[in-house]
Amino acid sequence: MATDCLFCKIIAGEIPSTEVYSDDDVYAFRDINPAAPTHLLVIPKKHLTDVKSATADDEALMGKLLLRANEIAAAQGLADEGFRYIINTGSNGGQTVFHLHLHILGGRQLGWPPG
Ligand code: 5GP
Ligand code: ZN
Repeated sequence: MATDCLFCKIIAGEIPSTEVYSDDDVYAFRDINPAAPTHLLVIPKKHLTDVKSATADDEALMGKLLLRANEIAAAQGLADEGFRYIINTGSNGGQTVFHLHLHILGGRQLGWPPG
């Protein structure tokens, strides 16, 4: 746990969130400011600042994050109509919370390219 990290505090239950999924390694919850009818954040319980901070030690964790996201998206009823995963990284990527998170967006037609 990183002491000054918002999402570490959410994992620890120090800041409330709407849980959608939890296991030993992965936590998923609803985004507080949804950009689509379904907007979830899937995060590793281990603090990683961003996706480029993952190392070979995190190979299984990265795979698990994506596979759990697939299961969560399906459980949310997004599989048939489709959805989008987004991992914003760094300043140009629009990252605002520096604990790796995968956005799941679904429930409406999404535009491309992103602004
Ligand atoms: P980023 O821009 O870093 O990719 O995404 C951060 C996301 O975290 C944003 O979509 C924002 O709405 C969400 N967020 C920020 N603070 C909180 C919070 O306290 N609770 C929840 N559930 N989501 C948050
Ligand atoms: Zn953290």
